[in-house]
Amino acid sequence: MNAANSNKGDLPRETPVLIVGGGPVGLALALDLGWRNVPCVLVEQGDGDVVDAKMFATGIRTVEFCRRWGIAEKVKHWGFPDDFPFDNVFVTSLDGHELGRIPMPALKDIPPFDVSPEGYAHCPQFIFDPILAETVRKYPHVTLRYHTRFASFRDEGGNVVAELIDEKTGKTETIRAQYLVGCDGIGSTVRKQLGFEMHGTGMINHSFNVMFKAPELWAQHDKGKAGRYVIVGEEGAWASLTPADGKDLWRLMIHGDLDTDPATIDPAHELRRAIGADTPFEVVKFGHWIRRHLVADRYAKGRVFLAGDAVHVMPPNGGLGMNTGLGDSVDLGWKLAAVYDGWAGPHLLESYEPERRPVGIRQCDEAMENFQRYGSRKPVPHVTDETPEGERVRAELGKRLSNANSQAWENPLNTHLGYRYEGSPIVEPDGPLPPEPEDSRLYTQTSHPGCRAPHAWLPDGRSTLDLFGRNFTLLRFPGAPTAGPIVSAAARRGVPLDVVELSDPKIATLYERKLVLVRPDGHVAWRGNAPPSDALVLVDRLRGVSAVRPTAMGHAAETVGAAAGSA
Ligand SMILES: Cc1cc2nc3c(=O)[nH]c(=O)nc-3n(C[C@H](O)[C@H](O)[C@H](O)COP(=O)(O)OP(=O)(O)OC[C@H]3O[C@@H](n4cnc5c(N)ncnc54)[C@H](O)[C@@H]3O)c2cc1C
Repeated sequence: MNAANSNKGDLPRETPVLIVGGGPVGLALALDLGWRNVPCVLVEQGDGDVVDAKMFATGIRTVEFCRRWGIAEKVKHWGFPDDFPFDNVFVTSLDGHELGRIPMPALKDIPPFDVSPEGYAHCPQFIFDPILAETVRKYPHVTLRYHTRFASFRDEGGNVVAELIDEKTGKTETIRAQYLVGCDGIGSTVRKQLGFEMHGTGMINHSFNVMFKAPELWAQHDKGKAGRYVIVGEEGAWASLTPADGKDLWRLMIHGDLDTDPATIDPAHELRRAIGADTPFEVVKFGHWIRRHLVADRYAKGRVFLAGDAVHVMPPNGGLGMNTGLGDSVDLGWKLAAVYDGWAGPHLLESYEPERRPVGIRQCDEAMENFQRYGSRKPVPHVTDETPEGERVRAELGKRLSNANSQAWENPLNTHLGYRYEGSPIVEPDGPLPPEPEDSRLYTQTSHPGCRAPHAWLPDGRSTLDLFGRNFTLLRFPGAPTAGPIVSAAARRGVPLDVVELSDPKIATLYERKLVLVRPDGHVAWRGNAPPSDALVLVDRLRGVSAVRPTAMGHAAETVGAAAGSA
């Protein structure tokens, strides 16, 4: 066991929030709560070591969250060489033909984005999760308990009593929590006990990861360094190869079929096929996983919530799974904090599902489209032939694959930043939202309620995003009327509110209104050129005083994917 992951403190008998699962989503929730001074307990059945190389692509919104938590620099600069180009290359094998290429810059050459103070990062989960855990440990009011399996819960109305099993001693313990959050992945025990079903395309294929060492692999072939080599054979794209640490550690991801028998996969054989028969390698780990596309019917019931893969699981194509889960944690974090701090309305937590479930559906469907564009196991006869016909097939396929995949791989900003909480019961609407672009690379910032509040640089070198976090933030632009009514209403209800005066005309134009009220998670709650006629009604809406109407719950109106199946 990793010494750093030893248990921290005794398990308290009671806690405001019990989190089940110490993957990235549970850790992010513990971190967000720790950062907001909310005591919580996280239980994880494993020892915290990440053995499978799952997530590599850390999305731009995730890096923005990390910036808020003070860990963005660690996530961006953990040791991956910043001059390693991230080209996507389609090849028949590293020692075979190159079919096409989507050029992508190295980390140091990515031009800053106008729309964010941050960018994408390449931070594999075996680096990312420990950064989250190390930061969580700094909060004395957060308990991280490894080797502790959640077995069941009992919702007593006023609180939840959970039964936990110490995996080392077999001893059973109970803990009483005001809220329980299941971040326990696709096999979620919490979800199963709630009886929620998952729907979508279901199982797509058997997939396999081979982590292997091959120092300076790029020196053994003529394709150069790249962020991803897609390996295409006569059976179509059958694998992708990705650098893990930019030095000697790599991951080969092999696509099987629905009926592939895992016992028939020989990792060494597949590696030789992908990187060339004469290239030396050492297999570090071989793992089997199932590619799925599913979203849960419900995200919450009573005092119990679900987040991350426990409620949405998608093909990793486009790198959206964990990034979507972190959005769940951030949405839930400030709402649980508001309840703990005593200013939430009785229905604030009910807004979690109608805000996050549509995002889960959106991201799962986009990941599915990415997977389909990829051409996994769609036969390509003659692609390896050394004939004029083979040459023609390679040229045509290379062009097609490069065109089809560039949306997903060339910074799909709208996918990561453009989701909005349309129809949320705790957002004051302001007319119809602008339509989303067809091309997911195009993202336009807007202060429309429900959207992520825009980024702009402030004269002191901070981003506008740095103004948001613990409290509501009311931005006042030149010519704005008094913020007095909103400030008084917030004070009357105990809602923490900062008022920030911004004089830069460019930022004023970007924000579109003279007064813009931003929630602690950085989404716009309300905007106007004058305070609302009754500021108390507004503040009560934003803190969840009114019950959520069933039609606004997202699950009634929306379904995931075209094909239905269930898990
Ligand atoms: C090959 C691959 C590549 C991927 N690449 C990307 C990518 O580039 N970008 C991206 O955003 N996503 C990616 N993903 C998806 C990403 O890995 C998942 O979405 C993410 O790990 C989900 O995090 P989670 O915390 O919800 O669940 P998990 O990571 O599954 O963590 C759940 C945790 O709960 C614990 N647990 C389960 N049951 C119990 C219990 N009863 N008691 C206590 N603990 C329990 C488990 O031990 C586990 O640690 C990829 C996935 C795969 C398979």
